[in-house]
Amino acid sequence: MRISIPPSWRTRIYRYRLTATKCKKCGRAAYPPSNICRYCGSREVEFIDLIDEKARLITWTIIYSAMEGFEEKRPVVLGILETVNTKARVMAPLTDTTPEELRVGLMMEPVLRRIINEGGHGLIHYGVSYRPLLKSTS
Ligand SMILES: [Zn+2]
Repeated sequence: MRISIPPSWRTRIYRYRLTATKCKKCGRAAYPPSNICRYCGSREVEFIDLIDEKARLITWTIIYSAMEGFEEKRPVVLGILETVNTKARVMAPLTDTTPEELRVGLMMEPVLRRIINEGGHGLIHYGVSYRPLLKSTS
C-alpha cells in the first residue's frame, strides 16, 4: 500500500494549468516556471498560466519505443510549441492527431489527458497534451 504522496500529486497544479513565469523586466515567458529570468537574469518575475492559450507547433519527434507503462500510447508524439501571446516554449505530448497531419505552424490547444494508470496502485496521472485546434469542436 502506498503511503507517501507521489511527486506528481504535489506538482499537479502547476502541470494542469501550465504555470509559467513572465519576466517583468524583459517580458519573456519561461516554462517550466523559473524564479530567475533565463533571458535577462532579472528576479522580477510573475506567475502566469498558459492553459487557456493556443500555441503553434514548432517541431516534433515521434517515439516508437515507449517506456514501460506507456505501451498503449505508442507511438508517442512529443512536440515543442510556442504559445501565441506569451511566446513561451512548451514541450508536451501531442494528441488527437497523426504524424501525417503535423506541420510547422499548426495551431494547437492544450487539453488535459490521462497519461498513465500506474500499475496496481490505481493512481491515474493526468497531464497536458496539445491537440490540433480544428478538432476542438468534436
Ligand atoms: Zn527577463
